[in-house]
Amino acid sequence: MPGTLYLVPTPIGNLGDISIRCRETLENADFIAAEDTRVTLKLLNHLGIKKSLVSYYEHNKTFKGDQIVERILAGETCALVSDAGSPAISDPGEDLVRQCAQAGITVCAIPGPCAAITALSISGQATGRFCFEGFLSTAKKSRREHLESLKAERRTMIFYEAPHKLAATLEDLRDAFGAERPISLCRELTKLHEEVVRTTLGEAAKRYAETPPRGEFVLIVAGAPEGEKETIPETDAALRVSQLIAEGLSRKDAVKQTAKELDLPKNAVYTIALKDPE
Ligand code: SAM
Repeated sequence: MPGTLYLVPTPIGNLGDISIRCRETLENADFIAAEDTRVTLKLLNHLGIKKSLVSYYEHNKTFKGDQIVERILAGETCALVSDAGSPAISDPGEDLVRQCAQAGITVCAIPGPCAAITALSISGQATGRFCFEGFLSTAKKSRREHLESLKAERRTMIFYEAPHKLAATLEDLRDAFGAERPISLCRELTKLHEEVVRTTLGEAAKRYAETPPRGEFVLIVAGAPEGEKETIPETDAALRVSQLIAEGLSRKDAVKQTAKELDLPKNAVYTIALKDPE
């Protein structure tokens, strides 16, 4: 009989946030798979738990994943933890969950700390509809494409960012969405110096260009306001037009269909398509 893979969220700052169920799961597991065993060892020492640890992180996940699956199939129970917060959310785990599910192993997620949701809830931004965008790429081209694809996004957007990249990211967000767009910068959540700065992208870019920030940040950016529909998702439109042309449509028909699918004016899509060489 196979064991179970438990996803165990850990505190994002305040150690008091570990739940009774998480603690019990760590105690009862046969082994713990950890993003960084040194970080997890500190938590286990704090909790007074002694347990066998294996590392599971970005660069060993392929072969370690196979070993973990084999052990669970043989009947062992594994608790997966990342350095902080919910495993598999911008953290290692996504692949292991898929691998286990494919192998017929039960995967059980324990609810708990997640920086994205903690930040969203205190941001003061609309929480009814939101999208999680994780980290922006460091590569200029894919970063630009990512932001371009979000220009017409109406939902509140959640970004993770490292402090040393914050100033550049705020400038890029301001350039993509405009200086007036509201943002909440949620810093050091659940820690001693927790802070939420509710401002605009223009002000935030200025503020953090002058004073380099400290600590960890989640950025909660308001979605595009009503009436900003004319903001054309250029990359989406250009991509769709070339896709349809590749499928055999004439440029004229590809433009017509793209305009219909994306609910955009035909002449605007035509202008975008002309910029994009076939
Ligand atoms: N899986 C984790 C989660 O669900 O919270 C997120 C891991 S991701 C590698 C780390 C990012 O989460 C940081 O760069 C920062 O954007 C955000 N973060 C983590 N802890 C935070 C905290 N205490 N305050 C603000 N942001 C935090």
